[in-house]
Amino acid sequence: MIVFSAFICDLDVFFSKYAKDNNHRNLITHSIIPSIIVIVLGITFNWPALILSGFTLFLHIFVDLFDWGTNLFYFSKKTIGPRLFISNEEQKNLPKYLAQYKNKESFFDFKYYNNKLALMIEALLFVLMMICIIIYAFEYTLIIFIYFFGLYFHLSKHFHLKKLEKS
Ligand SMILES: [Zn+2]
Repeated sequence: MIVFSAFICDLDVFFSKYAKDNNHRNLITHSIIPSIIVIVLGITFNWPALILSGFTLFLHIFVDLFDWGTNLFYFSKKTIGPRLFISNEEQKNLPKYLAQYKNKESFFDFKYYNNKLALMIEALLFVLMMICIIIYAFEYTLIIFIYFFGLYFHLSKHFHLKKLEKS
């Protein structure tokens, strides 16, 4: 449950069409609100696993702040975070940059896969994850299949976009 709550909020990509700019990170699910609710519920019912789930949920939102940012305080409708992948210049003229691509998503996708540091961190975290699982939760090793499923989803999208932009 703790692991599930760390990525459950990304399932909101399926509701992207309801979000501002079609960005799932602008949805309430990528704000700080659900983590607070889950932690409060965990404390109310004195349920440690639920409290931890609230923290992993928050951790996810926290990490998301660093790449593209999220709508952290939902009601302010502002994307917040260091947003390391996007410069102020690009942010201001975003429509111009997006127009260079056949599919708007390509801009974000290529920025990520052309960033060697991001890929290195990804690989490093993967190794760290494997070590942690083997040491602390060997009986849950099968959980890494969820990771590979997500990896497959992202890579197939990447290659799809690559093909599309070349054509
Ligand atoms: Zn996310």
